[in-house]
Amino acid sequence: MSVSTRVDLALLGFRGRPPVSRSAGAGPSADGHLVIDGINAAIPRNDDSPFVFDGTRVLLDGQDTGLDVEVIERPAFYDLRTADGVPYEKLARLHGRNVLATTVVQTCIRYAPDQRCRFCTIEESLRSGATTAVKRPTDLAEVAEAAVRLDGVTQMIMTTGTSAGTDRGARHLARCVRAVKATVPTLPVQVQCEPPADLAVITELREAGADAIGIHIESLDDEVRRRWMPGKATVPIHRYHEAWREAVRVFGRNQVSTYLLVGLGEDADALIAGAAELIEMGVYPFVVPFRPQPGSLAVDVDRATAPDAAVVEKVSREVAALLSLAGMTGADQRAGCAACGACSVLQGLGA
Ligand code: SF4
Repeated sequence: MSVSTRVDLALLGFRGRPPVSRSAGAGPSADGHLVIDGINAAIPRNDDSPFVFDGTRVLLDGQDTGLDVEVIERPAFYDLRTADGVPYEKLARLHGRNVLATTVVQTCIRYAPDQRCRFCTIEESLRSGATTAVKRPTDLAEVAEAAVRLDGVTQMIMTTGTSAGTDRGARHLARCVRAVKATVPTLPVQVQCEPPADLAVITELREAGADAIGIHIESLDDEVRRRWMPGKATVPIHRYHEAWREAVRVFGRNQVSTYLLVGLGEDADALIAGAAELIEMGVYPFVVPFRPQPGSLAVDVDRATAPDAAVVEKVSREVAALLSLAGMTGADQRAGCAACGACSVLQGLGA
């Protein structure tokens, strides 16, 4: 598949609904998951797209695009329930063909309308009844065991809404990792949270068994941060630097990552220069096109649209080249979004 077709698909999305799909939630969502040319691909679902997923192929204007498409079947663990009757599907979801992902706390102190990240829909999936507010560690362990046994899951991602505590939610993440590792010790787990006030919590996460960590800033441009994520922007960029440095010390080079969104109005060259600095520190910049998702303020209030394809391609190519030069690939991470790669085009570029 050419990079520009993959970029077009990432931006325009497709019509249709693959068996593995998600609606609202933390991070990019409202998408359908396929394996395209052997790589996980999370494609936005968009009723206005010229691309169509017809059940087995991806068509453009009615013609087969010739993409090598593997459909991911609905996983068997979705049909199980906890002893209390909670469907496993509400506790964790399959992303791509082999990633189990959960949001351990589905609420966020930053979700007030004047504070929330304008691209985010973390509490919408809670409101719709698609998930539960707080996941119990023992329940997640049960789900992880079943997902590995029945569906061949090879890694797990645990993210969290930000809590009011100084740990920013990391301590509940640590409890969840401990429970999962006690049940499925060989399953690599990535945790994701804001920079904790007390950096020692990063060691607690590692000692709990986490294999990798994502500390996501989304933009390195303070003006963009204030406009798009007023709540998160109250955490200064230097706090992220301190947390990334400590995380690289604890987890190792290339086991730490951050999302960088393309399409929030930042300068592309500044974004690439910032990514180069992160790579130098040993942090993998997971470059992801901004996805306008229903239910977010970006769509419902700002009427924001997907970024320009040429900019996404340029940034992705240049960051992929920098990553390759540094010998850092997503696939070398033990777990996490960069290891999955579905929401980005970096893996298709060899990074
Ligand atoms: S890149 Fe992350 S958010 Fe996207 S599908 Fe993969 S695990 Fe999920």
